[in-house]
Amino acid sequence: MARTDQLTWTGYVEVLQGNPLVFLPVGAHEQHGPPLPMGTDALLATRMAEAVASRVNGLVLPTISYGYKSQARSGGGQTFPGTISLDGSTLVGMTQDIIRELARHGVGRLVVLDGHYENQWFLTEGIELAQRELQASGKQMEILRTEYWDYCPQHVLDTVFDGNFPGYDLEHAALIETSMMLYWQPELVRVDAIPQNDQADFDIFDRYPQDGKGVPASGVLAPARGASYDKGQLIIESTVAEIARALAAHFGLVI
Ligand code: ZN
Ligand code: MN
Repeated sequence: MARTDQLTWTGYVEVLQGNPLVFLPVGAHEQHGPPLPMGTDALLATRMAEAVASRVNGLVLPTISYGYKSQARSGGGQTFPGTISLDGSTLVGMTQDIIRELARHGVGRLVVLDGHYENQWFLTEGIELAQRELQASGKQMEILRTEYWDYCPQHVLDTVFDGNFPGYDLEHAALIETSMMLYWQPELVRVDAIPQNDQADFDIFDRYPQDGKGVPASGVLAPARGASYDKGQLIIESTVAEIARALAAHFGLVI
């Protein structure tokens, strides 16, 4: 595994000779309640990309550390101090610009690894526009877009949540992210600040302008009380293994 920001351009050219999987982690700068840092989504996407890249001898790009606007029902929304979000067109443009440059270098296989729920369709649009551009100029790149949470095996969720998994949209700053941070970056977690609130009870629609209605004051959308290092380890090790397995199967790599 190598990180492009730590390579020289000549070293980068050498690594590209092997047609490696290149990873683009994408996160957000978003409130994650009193216990977790605002860079949590970016940090987890980065660590996940590095861990998977280590398994498949991949190359990791610098993370896009800002994301699309936080939504009340999935991230607490834009009413919290500290959340710094991009317009959709900015994220689309950044994604397209990065892919254009990678294509110019001859990168053939890209994995866009998302750690922020609200980014998904804007990353997709950036990829779609980039593909249209590449095809028009006769260039080719295979691009996968994926969210790391889709890989956590059901039996792990059953164990970690004792059968009460609230769904990934409500898992904002909650048990999964807190446990993952306790495993990967414990010095950044304020365990004594984990709030006691229960699961958020939202309307079935989104309302604009955002006013924070229904969002717990803490910004944590589901209970994080049971978070632990051990649960983080279980989630992370199984997720890394599943992503690596899926990529190896798709690209015909031996891991
Ligand atoms: Zn998050
Ligand atoms: Mn998020």
